[in-house]
Amino acid sequence: MATREEARQAREAKLDELHARLTGAVEQLVTGDDWAAALRFAARFRSRSFNNTLLIWVQHAAAFAEGRVPEPFPTYVAGYKQWQQLGRQVEKGQGGYQILAPVTGRFASSHPADPESWRRLNRGEKPKPGEVVRTRMVGVRPAYVWDASQTSGESIPEPPSPKLLVGEAPAGLWEGLASQVRSAGFELLVVPHEGMIHGANGMTDFEAKQVAVRENMDPVARVKTLAHELAHVLMHDPDAEDARAHRGIGEVEAESVALMIGAAHGMDTSEYTIPYVSSWAARVDGKEPVEIVQATGERVRKTAAGILDQLDTIQVGDGIPPGLDKDAPARETKRPAPAQDAPSRSTPAPAREPERAAVAVGRGL
Ligand SMILES: [Zn+2]
Repeated sequence: MATREEARQAREAKLDELHARLTGAVEQLVTGDDWAAALRFAARFRSRSFNNTLLIWVQHAAAFAEGRVPEPFPTYVAGYKQWQQLGRQVEKGQGGYQILAPVTGRFASSHPADPESWRRLNRGEKPKPGEVVRTRMVGVRPAYVWDASQTSGESIPEPPSPKLLVGEAPAGLWEGLASQVRSAGFELLVVPHEGMIHGANGMTDFEAKQVAVRENMDPVARVKTLAHELAHVLMHDPDAEDARAHRGIGEVEAESVALMIGAAHGMDTSEYTIPYVSSWAARVDGKEPVEIVQATGERVRKTAAGILDQLDTIQVGDGIPPGLDKDAPARETKRPAPAQDAPSRSTPAPAREPERAAVAVGRGL
């Protein structure tokens, strides 16, 4: 029987392997022109962190190359017990895809404003009277998910999916995006032609608090432009604290959000113009391209998922099997990990904001 220490070492070895796999996937993005493909994939799995979408992508591709799964892209992924809840069983011999799940700890303090005053509570330990309790992420651990094609059992209900005619914009998308522009405190102007907005399709003016979109385009291009401008509104306020960090890649971010929103509505996104990753991922001072790609991917994913959550349009699935009980326990390691509550490794997590519950269900984290 494995000792606690051996279990801990085994888990750390797995984490190292997982980090190496993730870095490899991101490096491929940096050197290739797969950014748009990664975003299209992330749009279909938008409930998970960008890092985890990459991990699922590369492991599913490997399984497909080895003939272990029938389709090049996964449809829905979930944990072992989550599939069981849906009346399905992981098939014998099917290895799960490793993703990063957070390990959280409870902390208590009687002076919450003082960062030094917080102490970690042991498992089951109650706070003292008057203490405030907060849950924080203290590390990551590997968790496993399986694609629907690696499971069998009861059929998966097919929710309605968007069906678009060529040149048609998704019903309700323009109105939904427009209302989010207005909720952010911006006036939306539809102008007759590009001559009125410096030759552009759209424009966001933070000083005048105005978003303008030119009218003389087809409905698909108009709605795409509005999504792009809404992304600017939400991400690129020049007065925001981190504005400088994103100045160089603002256009990449806005277009990437627009692409994810388009892809989530089944729109053709092949014409979206995003420059090669290698040309923008080196532009932020003092950061490695791999870091920039991960941080940008997560910012884009979070913004797009936030916008999509507020729309009442028909969207493609977000990667979570329909019908999954969202309140069910989310713990999904292969076997019980005795040291779960033990102090976690000190290496920082690769993502700036790894998802709260990688295998838990729920959109937008
Ligand atoms: Zn722009």
